[in-house]
Amino acid sequence: MHVAIIGSGIAALGTAIRLRAKGMDVSVFEANDTPGGKLHSFELGAFRFDGGPSLFTMPHFVDELFTIAGRDPKEYFNYVRSAEACRYFWQDGKQIYASSDPTKFASDAERIFRFPATDLLEYFDHVKNIYDRSARIFLERSLHKASTWLSSDTLRALSQIRKYDLFHSMHRANTIRIGEPHLVQLFDRFATYNGSNPYKAPGILNVIPWLEHGFGTFFPKGGMSEIPRSLHRLATDMGVQFHFGQKVERIVVKGGHVKGIMVRGQHIATDRVVSNMDVFHTYRKLMPDQKAPERILSQERSSSALVFYWGINGSFEETGLHNIFFGKDYKEEFGALFDRKDISEDPTIYVNVSSKLEPNDAPAGKENWFVMVNAPSDDGQDWKNITQRVRKTVIQKLSERLGKDIGPLIIEEKIWDPSGIAADTLSYQGALYGNSSNDQFAAFLRHPNFSRRIEGMYFCGGSVHPGGGIPLALLSGKITAELMH
Ligand SMILES: Cc1cc2nc3c(=O)[nH]c(=O)nc-3n(C[C@H](O)[C@H](O)[C@H](O)COP(=O)(O)OP(=O)(O)OC[C@H]3O[C@@H](n4cnc5c(N)ncnc54)[C@H](O)[C@@H]3O)c2cc1C
Repeated sequence: MHVAIIGSGIAALGTAIRLRAKGMDVSVFEANDTPGGKLHSFELGAFRFDGGPSLFTMPHFVDELFTIAGRDPKEYFNYVRSAEACRYFWQDGKQIYASSDPTKFASDAERIFRFPATDLLEYFDHVKNIYDRSARIFLERSLHKASTWLSSDTLRALSQIRKYDLFHSMHRANTIRIGEPHLVQLFDRFATYNGSNPYKAPGILNVIPWLEHGFGTFFPKGGMSEIPRSLHRLATDMGVQFHFGQKVERIVVKGGHVKGIMVRGQHIATDRVVSNMDVFHTYRKLMPDQKAPERILSQERSSSALVFYWGINGSFEETGLHNIFFGKDYKEEFGALFDRKDISEDPTIYVNVSSKLEPNDAPAGKENWFVMVNAPSDDGQDWKNITQRVRKTVIQKLSERLGKDIGPLIIEEKIWDPSGIAADTLSYQGALYGNSSNDQFAAFLRHPNFSRRIEGMYFCGGSVHPGGGIPLALLSGKITAELMH
């Protein structure tokens, strides 16, 4: 059985390893020169940057790929658990260094916000319960196979559905269960982990903070791009064939069966195709003559990002590995993103500084700042103008908060806007996580991991079930590989 995988994003790497472990003959075709897609890295002068993801959760999904291949993960890939999840800063001067240990976090929150620690621990218990009951159905299996719905644990979980906050927004659920405005904003923020709007996304997504505060946050030795690099090494050792700089131009379908792919005008025969390309482009660009699932393809896209990579001539004790500087009006901010398709005048700013843990990422006494603001998906906005405006605001706000003019400290700079993300990773509209989850039925409106119409056609990655972000993209690869015989 020969399988051709289109793209080498994190989901594709996981799928390739799983299929090879099943004894299949696997070839990966990647348009870029390196594996990892959005998970890539680069150097700017003497600074090293991870270009995409900066937060690593659920590392056991990565470890599992080494163990199913019969290897010791530690021979390929190492990571450390962080005691601190994130530092949060508000404009009224409040701040919390959020521990990834729920008990410590709750007692710090009680001291800072006068919110009872027991109530916060109860909140964590509540979201943990939702996670434990729902993850296996909504995240770890295909939602498009009868076997998922007929199993006894699914029926048991469905009988509890009213407890999942499915019919409230995340914000509404957080307001009811927590109420303290700083903490509500802190927990609402987790909607951005799948590019959604907490005022619309269903409350069941309040399980996301449990990944961070229950399972913990981690940092890969050597930086985030070590994740795809080590998986690529493993896949190569197992005999997966990689073809870099080879953009797939067409999927060849005859009589309802996949027959091959076209690369550089040449036909390559194959029994199965797995597309890790954004599902929108898979249909529009690679199979334009096949009937497309228009309802799914027309769903609202997730948010994108505007990222400033700055080499900073200085270092700051106030900041940690992950830092959030909140804007004042969160509702307005998400209205700007999803309704006006713009970036608010007062955006929340995320700053990641990997050189705090990986000193080689910056010269001594200097830091590598990955500064990200949530941005709308690319609809042809004037990104040059928006970038200029946001850059000014970000420098002003960070300078105020850190008590030092950071403008003159920027000695290296690169900028990635939504149109650049769309072009470099071939993601439709530069959306980071495929479709948004701004709908209580969003989980059912993601594309299945297989095609109902085309025999031999499969999908993996952030734009299909169960969604984006490293852990879910890896789970999509797992579901896809399990469906293939
Ligand atoms: C700035 C940014 C910050 C993020 N932060 C986080 C974070 O902190 N934590 C987290 O978990 N997630 C984060 N994400 C999201 C995460 O990166 C993605 O959800 C995940 O990496 C998607 O992986 P994927 O497998 O879908 O493939 P992608 O990374 O989208 O890769 C797809 C690959 O397919 C290739 N390809 C596409 N079409 C073709 C073709 N026709 N022929 C050949 N090759 C093709 C592309 O070149 C690309 O390499 C972030 C993303 C970005 C951009």
